[in-house]
Amino acid sequence: VSAPPRTADGQAFRFRADRLCLDLCSTLLWRHRAAEELLLVPDDLARWIHEAGLRPVPAVVEPAALRDAIDLREAVYRAAHARMRREPAAAADRATINRLAAAPVAAPSIDRDGLAARHAAEPAAAALSAVARDAIDLLTGPLADRVRECAADDCAFLFVDTSRPGTRRWCSPTRCGNREHVRDHRRRRRTTRDDAS
Ligand SMILES: [Zn+2]
Repeated sequence: VSAPPRTADGQAFRFRADRLCLDLCSTLLWRHRAAEELLLVPDDLARWIHEAGLRPVPAVVEPAALRDAIDLREAVYRAAHARMRREPAAAADRATINRLAAAPVAAPSIDRDGLAARHAAEPAAAALSAVARDAIDLLTGPLADRVRECAADDCAFLFVDTSRPGTRRWCSPTRCGNREHVRDHRRRRRTTRDDAS
């Protein structure tokens, strides 16, 4: 297995898909090459929940919640691929998504300064529930047919193609799209050189 490419985003969490459930899938980088886990310890999950904009951010994440997050991520990834093949999701993956979606999400409220706040007795479970509900929403809704995997052969990020013709290929045109254009260019140059020799 070849080493993962070095990119400008490094070890940072990616939020390219703008969908909670697909962005959670992106916490495992380079799935098709040397997979790199970004959710290594419970604090990583707390950081992801914070960066994903989910509130409240748990002060402490139990190891069980980290295991749930990884189970959910893999279930969503496989369920999305099943959907792309026009197949039903595996029963075990549906069970994982449904179990985590059943937990209450954070309740919204207005605080005394007139600002929105969110409360949850179990903030980590509430965050994973929001992600699981997003997956159900996406995979059973009108955008289910628009879920795609990035066309870069080393990138496994999922995205929703909202372009009118439905021909978007990259998780990010400025990231994988650019990398692919550079690779194409090198390939073409190499071919030209080989032709000349
Ligand atoms: Zn990509």
